[in-house]
Amino acid sequence: MQIYSSLDKQKKPLISLSEKKVLLYVCGITPYDTTHLGHAFLYIFFDVVKRYFEYLKYYVEYTQNVTDIDDDLLMRAKKDKINWKELGEMWTKKFLNDLIALNILTPTNYIKATDSIPEIIEIVSHLQTHGNAYESDGTVYFDVTKFTPYGDLSSYSKEEMIELSKERGADPGDPKKKNKLDFILWQKSIGDEPSWDSPWGKGRPGWHIECSAMVHKTLGLQIDIHGGGFDLIYPHHESEIAQSESFTGKEPFVGYWMHAGMLRYKGEKMSKSLGNLILVADLLFKHSQNAIRWMLLSHNYRYEWEYFDHMMDDAQIEVNAVLQKLETNLKFDENIKLLEEFEMHMNDDFNTPDVLAMVKNASSDPKNSTTIRKIMKTLGFVIQ
Ligand code: ZN
Repeated sequence: MQIYSSLDKQKKPLISLSEKKVLLYVCGITPYDTTHLGHAFLYIFFDVVKRYFEYLKYYVEYTQNVTDIDDDLLMRAKKDKINWKELGEMWTKKFLNDLIALNILTPTNYIKATDSIPEIIEIVSHLQTHGNAYESDGTVYFDVTKFTPYGDLSSYSKEEMIELSKERGADPGDPKKKNKLDFILWQKSIGDEPSWDSPWGKGRPGWHIECSAMVHKTLGLQIDIHGGGFDLIYPHHESEIAQSESFTGKEPFVGYWMHAGMLRYKGEKMSKSLGNLILVADLLFKHSQNAIRWMLLSHNYRYEWEYFDHMMDDAQIEVNAVLQKLETNLKFDENIKLLEEFEMHMNDDFNTPDVLAMVKNASSDPKNSTTIRKIMKTLGFVIQ
């Protein structure tokens, strides 16, 4: 099996840390708003990754986190005059219901950042003791000059990283920092912000360290696959590599970095800030979970693509046509050639668009129905 790794910038054969076992971590949501199509694309794709490894008889230990303490979430709670914890719990519950409605399997470990504070403090203390981090007025920063090569995952230049860090919530001009790209591991809580006791006084974790801590807590010091959206490559995943490898002394932290492409809608990136979101709840009102899955899997996970409204209608027609052909009580022998073709596409970095094209073609022969049912179930379609 070949998997594209964002760090290596190429496909490479799968060699897992333990035989027939895959350790998978996917960055989860920050629960302060509703589930949109970009979330569905990411989490349905990794649901298929998990299901396909299980089809290949791998045991998959899959952790997904909830970033339930974060600047954006605190800002929203303040704006809506609601307790930050209640806000997080409400949106987490809604998100989990959406996952069920989309037939996404529950990860092995579903973990909240706020349940990992002792582990976070342990890692930050270790980094500070070993000279990878420093404290300034109650806030602890990771010193990027102590880790080379910082920037390998994204391949951005220092100047590009400085520019992007500004756009993505960091402050390169922060006078307490030694270097512009140093990132926060632990920050002093201000005013009525939530806080935890720490060796540096009352504070709360930075975003990147939360994921490193949850990886190590649930899966170990090194893992096979780490996934997320393309926009998490820098600074989030870049920083995870730096702090985790500095903490564990082991590399690589992750065998395969897998990043899903971004969605566009009406000519722009689909995003909360632009307000051009397609909500999963709205789609489920008009279309089946199978149609949503069909539409999303007809796109290769690695590339950016633009959503058009007709796509859901087209997908509904296509998936219905296939499902209708499978409605037979007759059992046929498995079509080994078809299964081999399925595995060939999936083993090529999870090429789901080619699998769907194959399914569409092969479904015209009723004798393939037993095999196609098996393939579609492996891809997470709901078939009675
Ligand atoms: Zn993360």
